[in-house]
Formats: sequence, structure tokens, C-alpha cells
Amino acid sequence: MNIMELSGDELRVYNVLQKNPPETKKALEAKLGWTPSTTNRAIQSLLQKGAILETGLKESSGGRRPSVFDIQAGAGFLLGIHISYGFVSLVLCDLKLQVLEQETLLLPPARDVPDTVLQSIAETFRSFLTRRSIPKEAVLGAGLGMFGPVNRETGITGLLMDYDQPIAPWSGIPICSMLEEALDLPVSADSACNTAALAEYCYGAGRGSRNTSFFLCDIGFTVGQISSGRILRHWDDRDDGFAHNSVDLNGELCRCGKRGCVHLYASVRAINRRIRQQVMAGASTRIPVPMEQVNFGHILQAAGQNDRTVVAALEEAGSYFGSALSDYLNLLSPDLVVLGGTMADENAFFYDSVLNYLARCHGEALFRRVRFLRSGSFGRMTAAVGAAALVYEKHVGNPILD
Ligand SMILES: [Zn+2]
Repeated sequence: MNIMELSGDELRVYNVLQKNPPETKKALEAKLGWTPSTTNRAIQSLLQKGAILETGLKESSGGRRPSVFDIQAGAGFLLGIHISYGFVSLVLCDLKLQVLEQETLLLPPARDVPDTVLQSIAETFRSFLTRRSIPKEAVLGAGLGMFGPVNRETGITGLLMDYDQPIAPWSGIPICSMLEEALDLPVSADSACNTAALAEYCYGAGRGSRNTSFFLCDIGFTVGQISSGRILRHWDDRDDGFAHNSVDLNGELCRCGKRGCVHLYASVRAINRRIRQQVMAGASTRIPVPMEQVNFGHILQAAGQNDRTVVAALEEAGSYFGSALSDYLNLLSPDLVVLGGTMADENAFFYDSVLNYLARCHGEALFRRVRFLRSGSFGRMTAAVGAAALVYEKHVGNPILD
């Protein structure tokens, strides 16, 4: 079965089943606004082509129980890769974006050169196929969610930054063609915050949402937004616009030329600096290494032990972030906001502080209009699952990516 060979009507039914739990013919009619005969024709033809199957019968309050249909999820596979600042995540999914295999490689791109990272990605991909006895030909392609900007047409990375320092080996490289060579698969790429938003909107808590915003809170802050079925894009595909919202007009000078940008107050580096200042002023901490050697791993570990100095720094960062997020909510009116990435995935201190700030500014009414979630529906794998989704959506020509 080749999805590309499905006709327009067949593909519409297929897409509904691909993104939803198994459905009856009647439910499909209602979702598509079609007549019974049109729906029936498409279903019969999809069954004949082996694209969908009857998975059972639905409970009925009386009369004959109707059949439920689903796609043949195992008819093809998708590889999703998330290259983050601190790690690389890989998932192998079926066509319904169910995660079959997953792995996180501790290969910080800021430390490891592209060749090393790409080789490990290719080895992990091969081990996924071996473990599942899947022939490589059954994999439609690989999607990449990159921790910085990447040109979707040329597959070339933009300027990737480690705070204010460019990460030279990763900037301006043809990452897609390099991965295509390493994996022997077609590769599509987008910013990781966009792939995370895609996973959430199409396959996670964002199903049914009109306007989803996914914040990746890692070394910097990036946000992927999907509104009315389209990814909202910056005019030059930058993904860090939110990080440069000013929370202090007289604050620190940022590399963008403005003062007081939120990432200077709420990012990992700001948290690190705050803790260092507090410790030098006499505060106690459970961080087990000298202050000049502290990394975010130590900070998270100490937060897990309820280290008051560390928790206070995370909470202060949350308040600054909340201030910028408050402006964002007023401007863009999302109905679902997800905070993911290391700052939110690992503990609730940052996230809770953001929400407390918003509650103080907007009152409880805000929480009736906007749903907030800590960590994506696929946890730390959300951006990687979205990268796999990118392959599927591109394959079927979903306008969401335009
Ligand atoms: Zn700035």
C-alpha cells in the first residue's frame, strides 16, 4: 500500500482514521460531512487496497453493532530525530505515530561534532530496525527537529547559538543531506519547537485545539505555534522571537540590541548565575561541585532534593518567564499552552511559578480560557515524535506545514 496512490476522498478518510481512535462509518460521515454512499465508497476502496482494516464492533445500546475501522498502522514506519542542545532523541513510529522504539543519546551537540552525532543516530536507527525486524524499505523517511533554525527548503542550519556564542561546527551545515547520507533515507527538517507543536496539535493534547503553543524551554526559549491549522512562522523562520520579549526596559543588554530580554533572566544560564550569587552571599546549597563547575544537571539534581537556593532561582526564572508569557497570551490567544523542554520536563518548580505569576496577573478566569500543560503528551520525546509526524504530514501534503 502506498499512501501516495490514494485518491482525494480516500486520503481524507485515511487522514481522519490516522489521527483518531478507530471510528465507525457513521462517525466518519459526521466528521467529514459526507453522505453515507460517499463514505461507504471510500471505505470499501481503502479496505480493498489494504490501507485500512476493520478492527472490531462498537458497543451498541440496541440493534446491530457497527464495525469500527482503523488504518493499517504497520504498513509503514517513520523515524523521528530531535537534536537538542544537550541530547539527541530518536523514535521509530508506525503510521499512527505510536512509538515502537525510542532512545536518548547523551551527545550534546555543543560538545560533539556533527559526524560523531550523525554516526550514532545511524547506528541507533539500524538497531531499531533489527530489534523490530523491520526492513529499511518500510521506513518512509526521517524527520528532524533541530534545536535552532534550519532552512526547510535547503536543509541547511542557520546560526546556532550557545547563549551568545555561535556553535561553529553546527552552523550553516547541510544537515538534511548529511543525515540522508548517514541514514539512506529522505529527511525533512524543521525547528524542534515546531515539530513538538505538531506532535501535540495532531496527536496529543492539542487534538481539537484551535490555537496551540508549544514552548521548548531548554538552553533558550523557542515556541512553536499552530493556529487554525497552520504553523505560524517568523518571516525568516527564526524560532527564538519569544526569548527576546523584554521584561526590563533598563535591564541587561542583549545580543539582539534590546535590553532586558526574557532569556537573560529566565534561562538556564540566568538560573545558574542567580544560584552562584546566592551561594557567594552565604546561602547554602546541596549542589555537590564548586560553583564554577555547575551545570544544569547538578541544578536539576539539587532541585530534586528540594534545595531551597536552587528552587528559589527556578521560581524567580518562572516569574520572569510568566511576565513575558502574559504578554504573549494577550497577543496570540492560544487555547492550549504546553511548557516542555528540560526546564519543565524534569520538575514542576519553574512551571508552577509561571502559572502562579499568570494567576496573579490574569485571575482564575484565564484557566477557563487556556489549558496549560507541563511537558508534552510524549514527554521528553515530544519533539522527536513531531519530527516523525513531519514525514507523514509532508507525505500526504498536509497544509499545516505551509
Ligand atoms: Zn534579545
